[in-house]
Amino acid sequence: MPWRCGLMAERILNCDVAVIGAGPAGLSAAVAAASQGARVVIVDAQPVAGGQIWRNDVRLGAPAPALVLRDKVNVAGVTLLSRHEVVAASGKQLLLNGDSGATTLGYGALVLATGARELLLPFPGWTLPGVTGAGGAQALAKQGAPMRGRRVLVAGSGPLLLATAHTLKRHGAEVLGIHEQATRQQVHAFATALWRWPAKVLQAVQLRTALAGVAYHCDSHVLRVFGDERVQAVELQRGAHRETIDCDQLACGFGLVPNIELGQLLSCGLRAEGRHHAIAVDEYQRSSVADVFAAGETCGIGGVDCATVEGTIAGLVAANAPEAARQHFHRRQRARHFAALLRTHFALGDAVRQLADADTLVCRCEDVRFSDLAGMHDARQIKLKTRCGMGPCQGRICGPALAEIADLPRPGLRPPVFPVPLNVLAALHTTTPTDSSSGVMK
Ligand SMILES: Cc1cc2nc3c(=O)[nH]c(=O)nc-3n(C[C@H](O)[C@H](O)[C@H](O)COP(=O)(O)OP(=O)(O)OC[C@H]3O[C@@H](n4cnc5c(N)ncnc54)[C@H](O)[C@@H]3O)c2cc1C
Repeated sequence: MPWRCGLMAERILNCDVAVIGAGPAGLSAAVAAASQGARVVIVDAQPVAGGQIWRNDVRLGAPAPALVLRDKVNVAGVTLLSRHEVVAASGKQLLLNGDSGATTLGYGALVLATGARELLLPFPGWTLPGVTGAGGAQALAKQGAPMRGRRVLVAGSGPLLLATAHTLKRHGAEVLGIHEQATRQQVHAFATALWRWPAKVLQAVQLRTALAGVAYHCDSHVLRVFGDERVQAVELQRGAHRETIDCDQLACGFGLVPNIELGQLLSCGLRAEGRHHAIAVDEYQRSSVADVFAAGETCGIGGVDCATVEGTIAGLVAANAPEAARQHFHRRQRARHFAALLRTHFALGDAVRQLADADTLVCRCEDVRFSDLAGMHDARQIKLKTRCGMGPCQGRICGPALAEIADLPRPGLRPPVFPVPLNVLAALHTTTPTDSSSGVMK
């Protein structure tokens, strides 16, 4: 049952088109909407626009495509609210938590471009310091975490492993190897199908050249991590053999999961994507809710090209220019074909879903072990009995993991979607549809 809420922040902003997320999809949407004369506000939790792929690198700066789009956003007169998180929604208003407290943002049309996060699957030792997601390790390096001389093992699945290894190497890490769970046949089939996307072939060749000397192992996955205070070694299943490798860090990601929480809050229709969900959109990137659009990885994992073109289409339609949007349909179709190729060839094998043992923590916020869930099959029951999913991540990590390893549906969601300070909470009054007279937080 959806939660309803009222917003009462002192600071109020209004715009024609609000865009949530300043990654490739959101920046493209903002530029497209502004090109049609709309007053646009773009909101992002991060200090610098660019999203995940174009995250600012404290040493190397921002990549060229991000700089170009950021310039366009400035020239178009778009208002960018960095370090602001959307935490709740009511009617055509959003509640933002930012440096200066709570803000209410009113909009005519809304584009959700909230991207994706990493899928982390639990295995013995995965909560030890020194173990991160693959993209997480990349983000840490870009934000200035010391990498020089660190012996890092990269594992999991998908092309993000190569991008991560490249970033870590550029920051001075010694990358000990890349361990891809997909089989050699799967990876080979992916590589042979790539000829239809010459730019991707070039990118792959450049990455492999930059990673000369770093071995890429297929059919290889993590079994467990050893270490007392932090990671000291990783045991891997490599084909039929087991191998233990000493290292200082493990960067391990099993793919991405769409960030759908804002769509859920707004009651947007969802569609299944594997064992997870994405916001369902039509050919104009319209969600099932009037005046709410979605673009980029919140509506399915598709990569940067898909995100950019979907953002452009959503921004144009949100600013009442559907004809202009149609001109981008062909480019989107091509980008989505590439995304489908990735999904097929890097689909997770069953072995990586069976890594957790009875003692493995499945909810690291609330210290819930896999054995604590024995006999429970209902997400709500699990939440009530074990507090699984009730910590600071609000189920963002354990929810998708349990969907993968135990086939458990994600529990429902209620605002605020991120932890907020009390002064922001004070601007939010939640009620259930069956209890609309009460303005009391539950
Ligand atoms: C950790 C990580 C690293 C990645 N690295 C690479 C890479 O190196 N190469 C590559 O090809 N692909 C990479 N990807 C895939 C990448 O996400 C996509 O290719 C592309 O960035 C998707 O663009 P997007 O605009 O849909 O989402 P994103 O780029 O993820 O942008 C979404 C933005 O929304 C913001 N946001 C989300 N929720 C809220 C909220 N409630 N309030 C305010 N702001 C919000 C986030 O801060 C983020 O900036 C990575 C993905 C992840 C998760």
